[in-house]
Amino acid sequence: MVINMAAGASEAELQHVIDRVRECGFQPHVTRGTERAIVAAVGSGGSRSSLEALAAAPGVETVVPIAHPFKLVSRIARSERTRVCVGDVCIGGDEVVVIAGPCSVESREQLMSTARAVKAAGATMLRGGAYKPRTSPYDFQGLGLEALQLLSEVREETGLPVVTEVMSTDDIELIAAHADMLQVGARNMQNFALLRQLAKTDKPILLKRGPSATVKEWLLAAEYLLAGGNCNVVLCERGIKTFETEMRNTLDLAAVALARELSHLPVIADPSHGTGRRDLIAPASRAAIAIGADGLIIEVHPCPERAMSDGAQSLNLNEFAAMMRSLTAPVRPIAMGMAVGA
Ligand code: PEP
Ligand code: MN
Repeated sequence: MVINMAAGASEAELQHVIDRVRECGFQPHVTRGTERAIVAAVGSGGSRSSLEALAAAPGVETVVPIAHPFKLVSRIARSERTRVCVGDVCIGGDEVVVIAGPCSVESREQLMSTARAVKAAGATMLRGGAYKPRTSPYDFQGLGLEALQLLSEVREETGLPVVTEVMSTDDIELIAAHADMLQVGARNMQNFALLRQLAKTDKPILLKRGPSATVKEWLLAAEYLLAGGNCNVVLCERGIKTFETEMRNTLDLAAVALARELSHLPVIADPSHGTGRRDLIAPASRAAIAIGADGLIIEVHPCPERAMSDGAQSLNLNEFAAMMRSLTAPVRPIAMGMAVGA
């Protein structure tokens, strides 16, 4: 249930509703908008009819049931779009944010040259994996702490906030000390122990969609973060498993629009993992922006053929700059036929 407070409701009226929600056996989650506050009553086992009766309480405008299993993530719980600030970069505002960098941090030189080039081309955040989820245990697993230190150094020098993946609850504290945003990778989207711990941090979270997760499961994973106290969540569509074999994954562009319709959280797209092919990154990026994505995350490497992970889907520095220019290029004209009967 969501209790919408009236515009101009007093603090005392809001507090009364919060107290009553608790008395009815639910946990109150308060969201304060610019005009009005919303109290989401979550949990099970409480008295729904007592909650419904709160419609008569002073300062309450409406009490509406939320049909979705995800409650705090739902647009019903918050009508304004959430903006997630990472340093001075705001994801979910008017501008599309581009996050770029290597799949894995490999060396100071590799990270620094990439960071400088992507910044010059217009990216405002840096990505780089330190702990890598690899399908094979024999593949490069990331430089770990050394990579985190390099990310910190490069952030200091370039001013770009950094996002990097956290795979284990054991590493959260260490990674949070070096990174500005923590990525939950696709394979860990339903690692509920990890989500619960991340909910306790105040770091923004980039939550990737699992390769076989439905949109509902993805939003429920985000619900773990919000229910645990961390509302700074950005969703990332990164492609799902389908019968298609020419591409590594199938970038589910309509899911970007759907997630933005169902939720107030910002949604970005990852055309690198979503296609697995560098030739498709620019067109897929333009399509993602056209369908409403709040941002993009793109893999870039100074020499993709030498990359220790995901070289086939990495753009080189010049290709990235060209892709950025293509994002603002005019789209094709639409042939407008005469409407029948006009
Ligand atoms: C990555 O960002 O390099 C990565 C491993 O992503 P995903 O979890 O989407 O596969
Ligand atoms: Mn990668």
